[in-house]
Amino acid sequence: MDDCLFCRIIAGEIPAAKVYEDEHAIAFRDIDPKAPVHVLVVPRSHVDSIADLPDTLAGPMLRAIQAVAAREGVAEGFRVVTNHGPEAGQSVFHLHFHLLGGRRMAWPPG
Ligand code: AMP
Repeated sequence: MDDCLFCRIIAGEIPAAKVYEDEHAIAFRDIDPKAPVHVLVVPRSHVDSIADLPDTLAGPMLRAIQAVAAREGVAEGFRVVTNHGPEAGQSVFHLHFHLLGGRRMAWPPG
């Protein structure tokens, strides 16, 4: 999608600090990190949010999250968040999983 920020990052049109990529997913550092490790794990194909995630991508996205957590050195403790819709705080409408780690997390989230 031409007007999608994350599609443009995936296409290499907008720079991002990429930390991982495979056949289905790429991951790059959040531009406004909320933890020492804050990486966005994103499907290569455009999906608006988790509400539209096809079965074929569900497993690969979780595998990518596991791989990024290991690569970032937070496999012992990390949080995964995805926001669906403005009410939940979604601001970029290309599915992304926030992978957060490197500090103690509070619960419940805000
Ligand atoms: P959400 O609000 O859940 O849709 O998350 C969108 C995330 O994308 C926010 O945490 C932003 O800081 C992040 N973000 C926005 N633009 C960029 C960018 N160009 N590169 C990396 N992260 C970005």
